[in-house]
Amino acid sequence: MTQLVSQAAVEVSGVVLRRTLPENGAVEGRIDFWRERWMLCGRCDHRWHVDLDWIDRWDQAKEICPGCGMTCEHEDSPRVTVDSDDPALEDDRVSQFFWYHTTMQPDWPTRHFDPAAVLTPETRRRMGGEQRVSAWAAGQRAKALHVGTYEAAVHNMLRRIRDQAAERGQFYLYRVRLKPSVVVREELLVDPGNFVGDVALDEVCPPGVDVAPYLNYHEDPGGLSLALGRDAIASVQRIAVPLPDTWDERWVRDSVEALEGMSGTVVPATGKPGRFTRSSSPRADLGRALGASLAGRLPVNLQSQFASAAAFAEGEDPEQWARRTSSLFALIDNPPRALAALDGQDLREI
Ligand SMILES: [Zn+2]
Repeated sequence: MTQLVSQAAVEVSGVVLRRTLPENGAVEGRIDFWRERWMLCGRCDHRWHVDLDWIDRWDQAKEICPGCGMTCEHEDSPRVTVDSDDPALEDDRVSQFFWYHTTMQPDWPTRHFDPAAVLTPETRRRMGGEQRVSAWAAGQRAKALHVGTYEAAVHNMLRRIRDQAAERGQFYLYRVRLKPSVVVREELLVDPGNFVGDVALDEVCPPGVDVAPYLNYHEDPGGLSLALGRDAIASVQRIAVPLPDTWDERWVRDSVEALEGMSGTVVPATGKPGRFTRSSSPRADLGRALGASLAGRLPVNLQSQFASAAAFAEGEDPEQWARRTSSLFALIDNPPRALAALDGQDLREI
């Protein structure tokens, strides 16, 4: 019998180094929201690494390719690419890593997923009747599932909280183990635009292939994600996020004190005519400023999404808001807390 090693997470300034868990020897990749990324120029083939601030300036056309001087505005301009030393790039190692997914589904990956269950009779009528609804539901069920790095899963959740105004809904972070026998597609796919959540499984995984790795541009840029079917998953563990009891007590106490000292009365907008100014209360303004100051401590590619996800709603309870916001921050600032919580969860076989 193989001797499996159990190591505690090793944390070096917010970076989790590789750790191996006893259950099936699955390995945690290196979790580091701040790590440098690789760029590859489509015109001159120059390859170099940069930090996230560089990418942020690049996106604003304030940087050039060091090889050929091209800016981001050209079609074949440099793009972020994979780290060729990423061990998850090796086909036979894909199933040895933990993968992550965030969703509001409490039983993901749902066995008998019925996407039409939430449609109202009115929506069904507008969609053209039951036959159309069935066809639509079949199309939804045929879509690939997506898993990725811990960083990508957290990034995805922040984006969804912002985009769907679902910040008060319950999100879950899943840690996924793949079946050791999965067949991995050989060529690496490139995430074309809005790839996530919108690709049919059989388009990316032809017969005989279980898992299609792709380069993620949008979430954890340069990281690997996988498109796969439910059958490729061996088991999952789940925690609710933000995780209770992971907030910073002092930050919460100070924030609540400051918020409670401010008026919650909404002051009507007094902007110049023709200029949109949102009505707001001094308390909500302060809440937004507190969220923005936490966001400022995060990597640049997460800041605006975190600030939006942490926005203080008018009338919200300051204590609940501060705990939720601080716990959301801890998911990024202190991943070992979430990993330790996952370690304590039962495995659900799929
Ligand atoms: Zn170039």
